[in-house]
Amino acid sequence: MASDQPIPLARPVLGVEEESAVIEVLRSGRLSMGPFTDSFEKGFADMLGVEHASAVSSGTAGLHLALSASGVGPGDEVITSPFSFVASANVILYQGAKPVFVDVDPVSLTINPEAAAAAVTDLTSALLPVHIFGMPALVEPLESLGLPIIEDACEALGATHSDGIKVGGRGHPSVFGFYANKQMTTGEGGMVALSDPGIKRLIDSERNQGRAADMGWLDHDRLGFNYRLSEIQAAVGTVQMTRLPQMLSDRERVAASYETALGGIEGLELPVSDWEGGSRGWFVYVVMLPNGVDRDAVIRRLRKVGIDSKPYLPALHLMPHLAEASGARAGEFPFAEAASARGVALPFFPQLTQSEIERVAAALAEALGQRSPV
Ligand SMILES: *Cc1c(COP(=O)(O)O)cnc(C)c1O
Repeated sequence: MASDQPIPLARPVLGVEEESAVIEVLRSGRLSMGPFTDSFEKGFADMLGVEHASAVSSGTAGLHLALSASGVGPGDEVITSPFSFVASANVILYQGAKPVFVDVDPVSLTINPEAAAAAVTDLTSALLPVHIFGMPALVEPLESLGLPIIEDACEALGATHSDGIKVGGRGHPSVFGFYANKQMTTGEGGMVALSDPGIKRLIDSERNQGRAADMGWLDHDRLGFNYRLSEIQAAVGTVQMTRLPQMLSDRERVAASYETALGGIEGLELPVSDWEGGSRGWFVYVVMLPNGVDRDAVIRRLRKVGIDSKPYLPALHLMPHLAEASGARAGEFPFAEAASARGVALPFFPQLTQSEIERVAAALAEALGQRSPV
């Protein structure tokens, strides 16, 4: 029966255009650093209104390269959010630096700029705000601190700051990710958007084993990595970019439908689409369960009726390796911890149908012991 069909958390939109582009690359014999990578980078930079973009093998790789190119090294401190996906803090450890967490705003779940300013020390070498769940962090007040800023925009394609600049378009190295659940996908992949040509050169060198643009293939003048994106992935990304406006507006539609369908559930907090003048690029739909509810039990009951959901997100400063590196303790960041304890991600993707949305709403109401709102 259709009503028993499982509803996954995420599902990419892919079609014959991606298939054709992949076949074109395979037949060309040029599988890395070719014309698709060039056009993907140019198209992506144009889309955001920024000078440059560098394609990389993942969002994590992009964040690592952006930190390295910004000069973050051993002994440095990087101020960042404890409410994020683990990669945004791990990359600080890759560079031998120390993550310094500060709490988030309770509504946007993005870093509190005043707390960030208060955490600056002589050792602070960069700020790493995260546009979590696609909500623009307040980057402008951070800019006045005069430190390098690296933006984790992995969840924020389609988001806009209050001054109208697209997230990723301010010029700071801003990193996007193209894993299959993101707003667009290349399977695995990422992009660093930025304005500084010197930083761009460093990123392009370090993603390619430390080779400078004017050097031969086996000449290297600095430590580098293999963080290249393949032509096959770049071809998929080039096609996905043409789908992006439609996919983003479909995500907006799904979010609006959820808001209506879930509106009647008592004690449930829904995500907002706009905050402090900025607007979200919808990535996930995370609701905050009423206080005191057994979240795991709710997730189990949803799963029983074929609906996938997930606790979202665990607080980073409570993960053993990051607790040790940062010295942070439980109770230190109450807003991040409250969101971590109550958040549940519901199925969310462009092709989610109205009847599936209503099924999720009815099942969630039932799991909370309430009458179905739809
Ligand atoms: C997805 C994501 C990343 C990492 O991207 P990958 O491409 O999976 O390496 C980093 N930060 C945030 C907030 C993300 O959601």
